[in-house]
Amino acid sequence: MQIQLYNSLTKNTEILKPIHNNEIRMYSCGPTVYNYAHIGNMRAFLFADLLQRTLKTVGNYDIKWVMNITNIDDKTIRDSQKNSPAWLNEMGKQTDDPMENLLALTKFYEQKFINDIGKLGINNIHFFAMPKATDYIVEMQDLIKRIINKGVAYISEGSVYFNVNEYRQKDIYGKLFKIDFENFQAGTRIDSDQYEREQASDFVLWKARKEGEPFWDFEVDGQNLPGRPGWHIECSAMEYKLLGLPFDIHTGGVDLKFPHHEDEIAQSKAGYGIEPTNYWCHNEFLEVEGEKMSKSAGNFFTLRELEEKNIDPIDVRFSIFSAHYRTKYNFTFNGIDAAKKARIRVQDCIYAVANELEEEILINIHNRQIQTEKVKNLQNDVYSELANDLHTPKALANLFTFINNNKISELSKDEQLDFLCFISKLNDIFVAWKIGKKEEVENLIPQKILDLANQRLEAKQNKNFAEADKLRNEITALGYTIKDTKDGFEIEKI
Ligand code: AMP
Ligand code: ZN
Repeated sequence: MQIQLYNSLTKNTEILKPIHNNEIRMYSCGPTVYNYAHIGNMRAFLFADLLQRTLKTVGNYDIKWVMNITNIDDKTIRDSQKNSPAWLNEMGKQTDDPMENLLALTKFYEQKFINDIGKLGINNIHFFAMPKATDYIVEMQDLIKRIINKGVAYISEGSVYFNVNEYRQKDIYGKLFKIDFENFQAGTRIDSDQYEREQASDFVLWKARKEGEPFWDFEVDGQNLPGRPGWHIECSAMEYKLLGLPFDIHTGGVDLKFPHHEDEIAQSKAGYGIEPTNYWCHNEFLEVEGEKMSKSAGNFFTLRELEEKNIDPIDVRFSIFSAHYRTKYNFTFNGIDAAKKARIRVQDCIYAVANELEEEILINIHNRQIQTEKVKNLQNDVYSELANDLHTPKALANLFTFINNNKISELSKDEQLDFLCFISKLNDIFVAWKIGKKEEVENLIPQKILDLANQRLEAKQNKNFAEADKLRNEITALGYTIKDTKDGFEIEKI
C-alpha cells in the first residue's frame, strides 16, 4: 500500500517515494544519555518505531534505520563531573580522567535506555546502527573542515562557528522553522547546544577545550584546536557516513526543528553540498496538564517509575498510539487505564479464536493468506488509516468497530482464522498482544488438567487410590505435577 507522510519541510502530506528502490533509509535523533529517559522522550522513539514498522508491514519496504546515541554534549559532560550516585554506584568510582567519567556515565544510561525501549516494544535488532557520537569524531572533524573550506565557518578563540550570515547568501536558513531575522546580528555567537529561536545566531561546530572536560585534538590548517564537537554536527556527520545523502526520512520531536534540524540542514548543505533528507517527520509533545513533559519542568515520569505503579510498559506504548503522533498527547493515569482496557478487548478476541485451535495451525497463523471478504475489508480499513500519515486513532477505531459489529465466536471458521492472522500482522506494528491460547499466554493451568485434578481429589476422598494414581499419571503425562495440600492440591507445569 502507498504510504503518505506529513513532511515538515514542505508542510504538506506527501506520497512517500523511496530513493533506493524498495529500501527506506531513516535516521532518528536518539537520546542524550545523561539520565533515565522520561516517557515524553519515549514518545519520539515510539513514533519512529511506529513509522518503521508501518513502512515494513503496510508499505512492504525494507528499512535501514539508524538512531544515534548522544554521549557527548553540555549535559553529559556536566553530569559526568558531578557525584550522581545512581551511575557511580554501578560504574565504580569517578576518576581523574574526564573522558573516562563521561564514557562511564553515558554507557550506564545507554544500557538503561536500551532496556527501557525493549520493554516498550522497540526491539534493538531493528536498528541498522545505534552510533555513539564519540565514535565518529573523525567524521565530524572532516565535515567541519569542509564547511570551513567553503567559507561558511570561522575559528574564534579556539572554537569553530557556523557563519549563518554567509550561509544565507547561498541558501535559506529557516526551511523547517520560520526564523525572525529582524533582531539577527551577524557574528553573534552561541556556544550552548540548546538555544531558543530568538537567539538565531552563529552556532558552534567545535568547542574549545575547557579545563576538566574531555577533548580531542583537531588539526585545522596547521593549528591544533583541542576541544569537542557541538551537538548538531554529530547527526550530520553520522547520517552521511551511515546512510549516505540524501536519505529518505529523518525523525525527531517538534522541539528539534529549531535549532537542531535547521542546523543539520545548513551543515550538510554547506559541507557536503546536499541536504540530508527528503522527508522531515516530527512528533508532537507528550504533555502533563498542558505543559511539555520535561526534566526541567520536573513534571516527568520515567518508565521505571510507572512500572513501580504496576503499569505495563506495553500499555504506555498502546496509550501513546491512541493519539495521532502530530497531536499533543496529555498523559494521565486514566488514559493508561483506558488504553489497557481497549488492548485487553482485542486480546480477549484473540483468545476466543486461539483457544479452539490446534497448536500447529496457531503456530503458522501469521503466514496464512487472508481470503474472506470480511477480514480483507477490515485489513483495508485499518491499513489505509495507517498509510494515511500513521493515523493510529482511526486505524484502531476501525478495528474496534469490527469487534463491536461482529461477535468473534459467531464468525465462520475461515473468518476467525483470517481475523487471527490479521491481528498477528497488525501486532508487528502495535506490539500490544500475545498471539496464543489464554492459558499459555497467562501461564494458567489448562481446564483439562484442573478437571483431572478434581477427579483425582474425589477419587482420593472415596479412598479409590488406584484410580487416583491413574489420574496422577495422566496429569504427569500431560506435562504437569500435582502435589497434595491441606486444602486440596497444587499444580505446576513440569
Ligand atoms: P533528548 O534526549 O532531550 O535529546 O530528547 C530525545 C527526543 O525526545 C527528541 O526527539 C525530543 O524532541 C523528544 N522529546 C523530548 N521531550 C518530549 C515530550 N515531552 N514529548 C515528545 N517528545 C519529546
Ligand atoms: Zn540529531
